[in-house]
Amino acid sequence: PPTSISEVSHVKTMDQYKEMYKQSVEEPGKFWGKIAETFYFKKQHEGEFFDYNLDIRKGEVYIRCLSDATTNICYNCLDRNVKSGHGDTIAFYWEGNDPMDSTSITYKKLLDEVCKFSNVLKSLGVKKGDRVAIYMPMILELVVAMLACARIGAVHSIVFGGFSAEALSSRILDAKCDVLVTADGVYRGTKLIDLKSIADEALELCTKDGHSVSACVVVKHITANSYCDDKTERPAMRPYSGFKMSWNKAVDRSWEDLMQSASNECEPEWMNSEDPLFILYTSGSTGIPKGVLHHVSGYMLYAATTHKYTFDYHCGEVYFCTADIGWITGHTYITYGPLLNCATSVMFEGTPLFPDASRYWAIVDKYKVSKFYTAPTAIRSLMKYGEEPIRKYSRSSLKVLGTVGEPINPEAWLFYHKVIGNESCSIVDTFWQTETGGHVLTPFPGCTPTKPGSATFPFFGIVPAILSDEGVEIEGPGEGYLVFKQPWPGMMRTVFGDHKRFERTYFTKFPGYYVPGDGCKRDEDGYIWITGRIDDMINVSGHLLSTAEVESSLIEHPQVAEAAVVSKPHSVKGECLYCFVTVLQGSEFNKELVKELKEKVRHHIGAFSTPDYIQNAPGLPKTRSGKIMRRVLRNVAKGNRDLGDVSTMADASVVEVLFQNRDYTV
Ligand code: ATP
Ligand code: MG
Repeated sequence: PPTSISEVSHVKTMDQYKEMYKQSVEEPGKFWGKIAETFYFKKQHEGEFFDYNLDIRKGEVYIRCLSDATTNICYNCLDRNVKSGHGDTIAFYWEGNDPMDSTSITYKKLLDEVCKFSNVLKSLGVKKGDRVAIYMPMILELVVAMLACARIGAVHSIVFGGFSAEALSSRILDAKCDVLVTADGVYRGTKLIDLKSIADEALELCTKDGHSVSACVVVKHITANSYCDDKTERPAMRPYSGFKMSWNKAVDRSWEDLMQSASNECEPEWMNSEDPLFILYTSGSTGIPKGVLHHVSGYMLYAATTHKYTFDYHCGEVYFCTADIGWITGHTYITYGPLLNCATSVMFEGTPLFPDASRYWAIVDKYKVSKFYTAPTAIRSLMKYGEEPIRKYSRSSLKVLGTVGEPINPEAWLFYHKVIGNESCSIVDTFWQTETGGHVLTPFPGCTPTKPGSATFPFFGIVPAILSDEGVEIEGPGEGYLVFKQPWPGMMRTVFGDHKRFERTYFTKFPGYYVPGDGCKRDEDGYIWITGRIDDMINVSGHLLSTAEVESSLIEHPQVAEAAVVSKPHSVKGECLYCFVTVLQGSEFNKELVKELKEKVRHHIGAFSTPDYIQNAPGLPKTRSGKIMRRVLRNVAKGNRDLGDVSTMADASVVEVLFQNRDYTV
């Protein structure tokens, strides 16, 4: 399908991309140094841009950039934009769970709030280098809290608001956080989530483990109702008055009380480029989450540059990323990247299905959103409702549609392009990880000709390679392990408190390379296609298969909503395919369907890939960020009830259903 070629894109042609790319990898110091000039550094850097060792055989792995400079990322997000005349520009339109709730905040007002909360944190004894845990809904105070940490040099560790008390406490303990910032509660659709009592339980668990936070700051979000510009009477769905919050005088502090007396002036802490900025735990699709540590300057340059080019962002446009700030996508592409580019963003508290499946498009029309960023899981869940909820809204402001989180199957890609984008938007399938800080493989809107399901080419500064099992680089078309050969500014620096784990996880399998853990293939035109995680590769009778490929063929069947494929040990083939299939509402899972699905996979990939098992899966186990947990499914396939760490699973009850359904496997 064509990309919309825009005359005003930052990068207009593939030749221009290639030229910029060449400089970015051959003279990274020059390329990034020029970008760094557009930001404020208290002390300019003088030495080499990069200093690094990625080769474990030569000693400790480390990555540093601009390491003799000092700056502050919060200053660059806020003060810099206010000083250049953007004080009255809207930083965020906030859209509540309830469609009647909304407000907005300018750059100037955001700066005031951040300075106030910076002073609050200081008054609670928080100093540079201390860790602050943040467990909040998608409200503006969350952005204020994280930027305040960055301003005073404290390291924020944001824990997604959908996590349990146990998951929260293990993250507070791992990072030894001194303060927790939370809120009373939040509505997700019609469901009330009592965040404060989950936070209380988490803090109790921490105390049992010998670590107590000194303060827990609580925002009154649903109990105060001070948040919305529209003061009309609300539906019974929000019984604010009936909500009772426990209060522990020893540690609990009211956000509102503390803010009232705080000054709105706060000199930023001038940080060394390589001082830590934040810890973020990975989503736990493959195992126990890792506390990924990002540092100030490199992350700042990379967040800003990827946001600008990948979305082709121009000042004045309205940008909407549907992620939660509790994930890396929210860190880089709701808070830091957009603010560094002086963007106007929509921050959305709710879910795509409330009050109905049109919600995203209602928001797009309301704010005239032109750049939209979501996940394949959201697109697939909306596909189930057909085209009508989408066609109800014009979406005519949309120009770029982004996706991230999992491989996007061509079926969903085409739906995104044809139905949601009216065939007139560029689709950007962005491949990256918590560890990479920002996009590493992505098309450029109005520039890169796309192919459905391919993340296309590397971003500036990224040098990918494909390795065989033996660690040999595959030139030209081929399939193998995706690796990166050079550092880039936004690359993680270590696993918090465990540098050995950092080296072991990413640098030992193929010494000399960064190994993200994903497989990929390169086609005849040089396009890169992510084939899924290395752990999810399946070897059937000596043929290496990617789960993404099999899943894509299953999903193409008109009755299939979602599919996940794992391996099961097989006495003859070594491994065989075990498929979990969710059928569309109103469709029936039966022998006929199973036959058709087997035929489909056979036809698409080859006879050797014919699935041995196809099981009905009314629901699939997913992480709280919406990714399929194939390691759990592998255990279901084997009938092994010892599931390992499932603290990151969104809804554990689906697994029980799957164990029961095993009997009906065809
Ligand atoms: P954990 O590392 O704890 O198992 P996780 O890998 O799910 O969790 P994230 O850092 O949130 O944690 O996700 C990054 C991973 O998501 C990538 O390594 C890749 O497997 C997948 N991914 C992200 N974007 C894409 C994409 N556009 N195409 C294919 N896969 C993607
Ligand atoms: Mg990962």
